[in-house]
Amino acid sequence: MKIFRQGAELQKYALECKRSGKQIALVPTMGFLHKGHASLIDIARQRGDEVIVSIFVNPTQFAPNEDLDKYPRDFEGDCKLCEAHGATAVFAPAPEDMYAPDRSIWVDETTLSKVLCGKSRPIHFRGVLTVVSKLFNLAQPDVAVFGKKDAQQAIIIKRMVRDLNFPVEIVLGDLIRDTDNVAMSSRNRYLSEDERRRARSISESVFYAEKELKQRGVDAVGTVIQYAEQHIAEAGGIVDYVEVLDSSDLTEPTAESSGVLFAVAAVFGTTRLIDNCFVDMPGKN
Ligand code: AMP
Repeated sequence: MKIFRQGAELQKYALECKRSGKQIALVPTMGFLHKGHASLIDIARQRGDEVIVSIFVNPTQFAPNEDLDKYPRDFEGDCKLCEAHGATAVFAPAPEDMYAPDRSIWVDETTLSKVLCGKSRPIHFRGVLTVVSKLFNLAQPDVAVFGKKDAQQAIIIKRMVRDLNFPVEIVLGDLIRDTDNVAMSSRNRYLSEDERRRARSISESVFYAEKELKQRGVDAVGTVIQYAEQHIAEAGGIVDYVEVLDSSDLTEPTAESSGVLFAVAAVFGTTRLIDNCFVDMPGKN
């Protein structure tokens, strides 16, 4: 497995791969990899001759009050996981290599990024879209794999690819849960044992919402939001949002919506967790 530290080296390699007719699949990550990331690398393996995993804790998507400095890192462990799942290259640049000190170009989204996580993290998606655009230019992927765990991010990246005509297919991998059903996340390592136990209220709310929305469609929206807000608060979580939106454009769902996204963000201790499910509306598919 190759390890690239410089964007220019990766780009040269990727262009050579393309010239020799290879399909490139890219999995962008921030490292401290777990089974959720591994499942995306497995998908990439099926889709590409070359599987490039990027490991980069992207400073531009963190606000000054967020956890950039303490974000967990384990480069050696990450490389082992990548190799075990058939990655052919890891790209792990230094922030100075990715961003010139006088950079002045951003990729921004103006509608979908204003709801859900965008309300409490106003600069987050601009940072994500800018770094993902750069990764697409450096790794030249035919396919890029993202997780449904970050549902809003996945929807916004698909919109960027459509609106800016990136020649890349976006593939989404299912949300992977731990044995206690908590959604896998690098940030779970911040949770104390007690917080982790209480954080189960989030996935319990997601499962309840999935069942009700599948059965009753948009009629269940009020009930599932109320249930989640109450259940998470009773477990000691501070709810940032619980929302049900049309999954095609993140607007309020209507009787015509064919699918919805139930999405939650809540804080346990000092750790902000997100979880979600996509649900097809009964009789609409
Ligand atoms: P991150 O390293 O958290 O930035 O995530 C990198 C990619 O892995 C993103 O596309 C995430 O959506 C995806 N991912 C993170 N956690 C999970 C999970 N539990 N299940 C599936 N995909 C995930």
